[in-house]
Amino acid sequence: MRQTIVAGNWKLNGTRQGVKDLVNGIKNGLTGSDKACVIISPVAIHLGLAQKLLSDTSAIKLGAQNASSHNEGAYTGELSVKMLEEYDVKYVIVGHSERRAIFKESDLDVAKRFKTIKKSGLVPILCVGETLEQREENETQQVITQQINAVIDECGIDSFDGSVIAYEPVWAIGTGKTATPEQAQQVHEFIRKMLADKDTQIASEIQILYGGSVNGANAKELFDKEDIDGGLIGGASLKAEEFLKIIKAAN
Ligand code: PEP
Repeated sequence: MRQTIVAGNWKLNGTRQGVKDLVNGIKNGLTGSDKACVIISPVAIHLGLAQKLLSDTSAIKLGAQNASSHNEGAYTGELSVKMLEEYDVKYVIVGHSERRAIFKESDLDVAKRFKTIKKSGLVPILCVGETLEQREENETQQVITQQINAVIDECGIDSFDGSVIAYEPVWAIGTGKTATPEQAQQVHEFIRKMLADKDTQIASEIQILYGGSVNGANAKELFDKEDIDGGLIGGASLKAEEFLKIIKAAN
């Protein structure tokens, strides 16, 4: 039985006060009987603050939005896994489409970051997904296969044991245009089958999240699909009330 994950990706948002309000809002709204694993991923400079605010609860885990493939050295602007560990970070988003598209992280860059994250014992959340153009050209499966195979080539199939994948169609991110539950399920099933060709146990145990304009109103029908194990949530994770509705949808 795979536990549902509801992971917030706060991207480049949040003042100190905003982080306090949001963390406290989520904390206070949790019922204590929520079934999902809840993760928040603030911008790196606020991880220390979030760590402090979460020090009295284990109901919310801390995630980071990226990590370097290097452990230390002359890599301006990067963050190492050891630094993240010092802030009780447990999960690291890697290969988000914004990192791939805007910051030009290649499949190989992403695979190297994934490798370092995995080696450290943190849990990578590997984002994969096609652009609208690629979907219209019927290239969805090919793109996802390439993104996942880059990690398998660099780290081996065993590296997916205990890792998380997020299927995030680029055309659905921040656009208000969600994949239908059927569209998402189709791709999730494809991902699980492609992993099963290499290792059936890893494939059946891995949590595959859907991301792309998930909100309180559409989360339940997405999460109800057989191969959808929760969501990676951008915009809707910035409002406690909306994020809590999504957490509730996982119950
Ligand atoms: C994301 O950035 O991972 C994401 C899914 O964003 P949104 O929920 O805003 O589409």
